[in-house]
Amino acid sequence: MLHTLLPAVVAGVVLMLAANGCTTVYLHRTLAHRAVSVRGPVHVAFRTFVWISTGIRPRQWVAVHRKHHAFTDVPGDPHSPVLLGWMTVQRRNVTLYRREAKNAETVGRYARDIPQTRADRWFFDHAMLGLAIGLTFLVVVLGPVVGLLAAFVYLNLFLGTNAAVNAIGHHFGRKPYPNGAGNLQWLAFLTAGEGLHNNHHAAPTSAKLSHRWFEVDPGWWVIRILTVLHLAKVRLSELRLTQAASGAASKAAHVASNAAHAAGAAASNAAIAVGTAASTAASAVAEATKSSPTPGLNT
Ligand SMILES: [Zn+2]
Ligand SMILES: [Zn+2]
Repeated sequence: MLHTLLPAVVAGVVLMLAANGCTTVYLHRTLAHRAVSVRGPVHVAFRTFVWISTGIRPRQWVAVHRKHHAFTDVPGDPHSPVLLGWMTVQRRNVTLYRREAKNAETVGRYARDIPQTRADRWFFDHAMLGLAIGLTFLVVVLGPVVGLLAAFVYLNLFLGTNAAVNAIGHHFGRKPYPNGAGNLQWLAFLTAGEGLHNNHHAAPTSAKLSHRWFEVDPGWWVIRILTVLHLAKVRLSELRLTQAASGAASKAAHVASNAAHAAGAAASNAAIAVGTAASTAASAVAEATKSSPTPGLNT
């Protein structure tokens, strides 16, 4: 039993990490936000892996996601926990996604830059064909029982973690920037960085989702490796915060500077007080010495 279950779970987890890595690096950061551009062969490799592991049509994913940014947590957001409750989004994320992805107006408006190609018409738009190829590959490599079990584990983990970004990641977590999303490092480990969702909404065009020394964004490591190999290029070298986020950041900096100023003034007042007290004490000692000579010196 264990020798069947263990390799299936390991394969399912590895596949989930790989598919989530492709989702964030390719669908999200490269296509949806144009924060990264990749060379032709990398594009084909990502495109093929997305097809056989998820069946997602990139222009639909991009359109739904861009609409989410355009209407974040207000009416029009395809999957907002503020409007629907985080439990509902967690359970029904696939349905909510499919409903919006099928909306031709949404796709036409938000993914105008990703037209349907001949390769899409022949292969990539046929989700079931892609998934069947992926499943066949798993069965051939791992055997029918472990392969099917791995596919089951993978599918649940992939759908669950992606739903979590939209549901849990838009409700729980640290919120250093003023937006409805949260930063959850545990989710970022499972989703190659997507769990740092508060950072992402504060700087959507940034290829790097970690903004502080203690935050880890595995998707960024993939991008770094690709850039070192000259297979990808990052569009912006600096972090570009949205107006709301930079306004809050400068307000926080202002508050911090005021606090530092107040602390400095308090410290200098304290130093003056200590100095005055010390000089008063010294004068008193000098007076006392004059009026009463030290015992022992006059004997
Ligand atoms: Zn979001
Ligand atoms: Zn985004």
